[in-house]
Amino acid sequence: MYKTIEQQVRRNVAPPELRQEFRQHDFESLHSFCILIFCVSIGIWTLFDLIVSYLGQQDFTWISMAFITVMVTLTIILAFTRKAAHFDLLNLVFIAVITLAMRLVIEGLPIGLRPAWLVLGGSSVLYSVSVLPVRRWAFFAVLVVTWLNLQPFQVADMHLLELRGLMFVCYLVFINGLIVYTYLKMRRAKLYNFYLSKVLLDQAYIDALTEIPNRRSFMAKAQTHLKEDDAQSRYLAMIDIDNFKKVNDQFGHDIGDVVLKRTAANIKASMTEFEYARLGGEEFVIYLWGLNQADAEQRVAALCTQVREDTVAHPVTISIGLTRILQDDSLTNALVKADEALYQAKHAGKDRYVLWREEVSV
Ligand code: GH3
Ligand code: MG
Ligand code: MG
Repeated sequence: MYKTIEQQVRRNVAPPELRQEFRQHDFESLHSFCILIFCVSIGIWTLFDLIVSYLGQQDFTWISMAFITVMVTLTIILAFTRKAAHFDLLNLVFIAVITLAMRLVIEGLPIGLRPAWLVLGGSSVLYSVSVLPVRRWAFFAVLVVTWLNLQPFQVADMHLLELRGLMFVCYLVFINGLIVYTYLKMRRAKLYNFYLSKVLLDQAYIDALTEIPNRRSFMAKAQTHLKEDDAQSRYLAMIDIDNFKKVNDQFGHDIGDVVLKRTAANIKASMTEFEYARLGGEEFVIYLWGLNQADAEQRVAALCTQVREDTVAHPVTISIGLTRILQDDSLTNALVKADEALYQAKHAGKDRYVLWREEVSV
């Protein structure tokens, strides 16, 4: 069972758009962490540079200052970077600069210590990058740049086929293999996780039949709107398909489903800028804002007309109860008012909207 799900997930995460969405999401959620890693890297490099400069009796020169300036500038650019693709490039440039800077510090050490510090430095850089939100090409580019700058065989007395050289090579193969494997596995696990969360969210908030938001989604979004929108210009419309039971009885449940989907599509097409949902059965709801009363009435009247005049195999009509949401109205309260107005619309002959008024109240 688990294997089947995993195979399905693997197939479904293939589309490039989903991967692009994942990369952007991953970058946005780790943006502060990336800045932290850049800052900590600059801090640690500066600390080592100071130790080597003063205890190693070398001066803290303008070159160090130049490296710090460039790295800090890159970190400031990162703070304003919003796109994952830009981060891939920026990170590569940062790594090119910091590995060069590290090489400069290591060249200040006694020659015998240099190979070990080059390998230590390179491995630390790669480990840090493996937890950052970078694409595969960017990660492997970082790997190449890091070892171009920090490979231990640049030290004069290091030879590949000698004891020390061979030991370094074995260790490098091991540590790089481990880092690359962890990076690829973690990236895939994160992508699967992202995909599964998306599926779960869709299932929890999208109506499976009509593919528009469901009641749960509507209640959450409308509650948020209620706190923000101007009480003078917000309306709630409750919609019910007329004589829908007859459609089911005459043509069967499948045709009934087609009618439901079509009505949902009509609502979606004419109310794109507002919040709408299927409340359940053949009832829908719309939360409209930023409209005066005449505009709100005009919009729901147009929806009635659109559904009525839709030239399709099994035409239906709808009734709508419309209410303004007053300052003190809760969402439940407004839903009750819209339902009362809807009741009046049904009683007045269906295929129309009725605006809630005090005297409409039943
Ligand atoms: P009115 O004009 O007064 O609204 O009458 P009506 O027949 O539309 O109202 P009623 O509430 O009696 O009928 C609603 C029907 O909707 C009953 C139920 O079988 C049907 N229904 C609810 N959910 C679904 C669904 O998902 N698919 C289908 N095909 N029918 C559904
Ligand atoms: Mg009904
Ligand atoms: Mg009905």
